[in-house]
Amino acid sequence: MNISVIIPAKDEQESIPELSQWISRVMQQHGFSYEVIFVDDGSTDGTWEEIQKQNLINSSFKGVKFNRNFGKSAALHTAFKLAQGEVVITMDADLQDSPDEIPELYRLIKEEGFQLVSGWKKKRHDPISKTLPSKFFNYVTRKISGIHLHDFNCGLKAYRQEVVKNITIYGEMHRYIPVIAKWNGYGKIGEKVVQHQARKYGYTKFGLERF
Ligand code: UDP
Ligand code: MG
Repeated sequence: MNISVIIPAKDEQESIPELSQWISRVMQQHGFSYEVIFVDDGSTDGTWEEIQKQNLINSSFKGVKFNRNFGKSAALHTAFKLAQGEVVITMDADLQDSPDEIPELYRLIKEEGFQLVSGWKKKRHDPISKTLPSKFFNYVTRKISGIHLHDFNCGLKAYRQEVVKNITIYGEMHRYIPVIAKWNGYGKIGEKVVQHQARKYGYTKFGLERF
């Protein structure tokens, strides 16, 4: 299998149908063999029902359901253990990340020899209450880790399978995955400027700031 796409989802029922169709289209156009693993991280809306629907439409779409909210790191960790693709791509469920980035991320891992490629939302469509703390976080993390990424916390990342099988993340550690990867000997880390969209659904989530 070429690619596993991992998507943590907490209350994302509105975006899942559009996101799923978009991913299938890209995969088909490029002839990739793939799976999509959704992790329902304790959603209280119809996220799980939507994931089940996608599985009926296309059995490459799979799902894992947490019975309560464990957070994004736990969601990623669970899917990392299950992923079968040679290249593993993580993506947010909210349509802020574009599935059109998948082919180039895949190429960077397979052909350019990167072990991890992190997206960089250079033009970010988020309120300043998110972008400002994010700049500070990235500055500090760059200084401490010596890894020159602009956007450590970008949800869109690609990994060689070996990397995700050999790192453990929990708590808030998803923000530091490139640092953890480097500590584990996976230091060939690249960066790709990626498109970023404003949140289409679930605007109320701006009340819960995560950067
Ligand atoms: N998410 C999750 N568990 C949580 C919070 C968020 O699985 O406890 C998912 C969410 O559904 C989305 C991704 O993680 O797919 C990023 O969340 P969000 O868009 O709120 O964060 P931001 O874009 O601000 O980093
Ligand atoms: Mg988002």
